[in-house]
Amino acid sequence: MYDNLSYWEKKNFFHADVIIVGTGIVGLNAAIEIKSLAPKISVLMLERGFFPSGASTKNAGFACFGSISELIEQEKLSGTDGLHSLISKRWKGLLKLRNLLGDEQISYQNNGGFELFRPQQASLTEKCVAKLSHFNTLIEDIVLQKDVYRQVDYRIDEFGFKGIDALIECRLEAQIDPGMMMKALLAKATAMGVQVLNCCKVEELVRANDKIDLKTEQGTFTCKKALLTTNAFINELLPDLAVVPGRGQVIVTKPIPNLKVKGTFHYDLGYYYFRNIDGRILLGGARNLDIKAEETTEFGETVAVQQALHNLLKEVILPATHIEIEHKWSGIMAFGPKLAPIVEELQANIFCAVRCNGMGIAIGSQTGQEAGEMVFRSLDN
Ligand SMILES: Cc1cc2nc3c(=O)[nH]c(=O)nc-3n(C[C@H](O)[C@H](O)[C@H](O)COP(=O)(O)OP(=O)(O)OC[C@H]3O[C@@H](n4cnc5c(N)ncnc54)[C@H](O)[C@@H]3O)c2cc1C
Repeated sequence: MYDNLSYWEKKNFFHADVIIVGTGIVGLNAAIEIKSLAPKISVLMLERGFFPSGASTKNAGFACFGSISELIEQEKLSGTDGLHSLISKRWKGLLKLRNLLGDEQISYQNNGGFELFRPQQASLTEKCVAKLSHFNTLIEDIVLQKDVYRQVDYRIDEFGFKGIDALIECRLEAQIDPGMMMKALLAKATAMGVQVLNCCKVEELVRANDKIDLKTEQGTFTCKKALLTTNAFINELLPDLAVVPGRGQVIVTKPIPNLKVKGTFHYDLGYYYFRNIDGRILLGGARNLDIKAEETTEFGETVAVQQALHNLLKEVILPATHIEIEHKWSGIMAFGPKLAPIVEELQANIFCAVRCNGMGIAIGSQTGQEAGEMVFRSLDN
């Protein structure tokens, strides 16, 4: 075969002890962990995008650990002890991310998080308000602070909202710039000797004796251990994993003079989310309008979701303001029947760490670290 690859290219670029597929927050943290544990282990990362092009660069940048209505639903799924351990993982994950990169490097801003309620949601509001002290007590030994969640209806006018009659604050919720986070993670990984190759989509994995072949259009890469951190796209390589994609559509307005909105905001059980960024509003969500249609790995937009986002902007968030949309995109999350990510050896020497369930800022670092440790332990050191 004439592929025009030189002897030197074949010898130096196509083999590593560990190959990680996907350079999102999980893959990069796994690479950093392996290099911290054993600098001599060679780690190569293959990314299909021109830069990391999964959820990690397309999210909303909420550094959150759960709004009250989400916690109520999650407690039903996981039980009280299970929820306590989930919140603990999210909180510790956020601390880990901040310690690893530094607040300035990720533009971490603790402006508070807020859940909005409309009059027609009176029974949900009542349910959430009734649970405030329960969740405050549950998280006290995790965040070491009292009364983190509180009802702050008096702040509704301060933000300029219309048609909202209740507001619950989470004092410890913050916002970051996910693009800055990803640049800092990439810089850290490459400074530790991790090699990253972009525009290199892994099409197939083949186990051959004690090595794994990863087939791409650029050639076949080989390694001792392969770690898949391709998140919502995992079923393209391993079809039977319990991962369901969920597309999130996002819009960003043009700068708005004297914008009053400051913080991260959740509405309708977390299905809508918005925040301030550079004097603009970033708003996403409305997946629940047609959950089945949004269970896709295709980027794109739909009329129904775009219309719902525009309506929320016009009617509730910026009622008396002329609004123009300057940016829009979509990103793909990974959901599943359980809230915990899948961090496992799926076949001999093939590992995965996927499904952060829309909470990757909080749990991506920890998930990557666990995956890195798992792969490291499996190598003969
Ligand atoms: C619109 C939106 C808003 C969100 N908002 C928030 C938020 O505010 N807070 C929060 O905590 N979480 C949020 N999330 C979720 C969060 O972004 C994810 O949980 C997290 O980024 C997942 O990280 P990851 O590393 O597992 O996957 P990803 O970042 O998706 O990385 C997977 C990588 O694998 C690559 N890849 C896929 N297939 C292949 C292949 N075959 N070969 C090579 N490379 C491949 C992809 O290009 C991608 O770069 C949001 C997600 C979306 C989509």
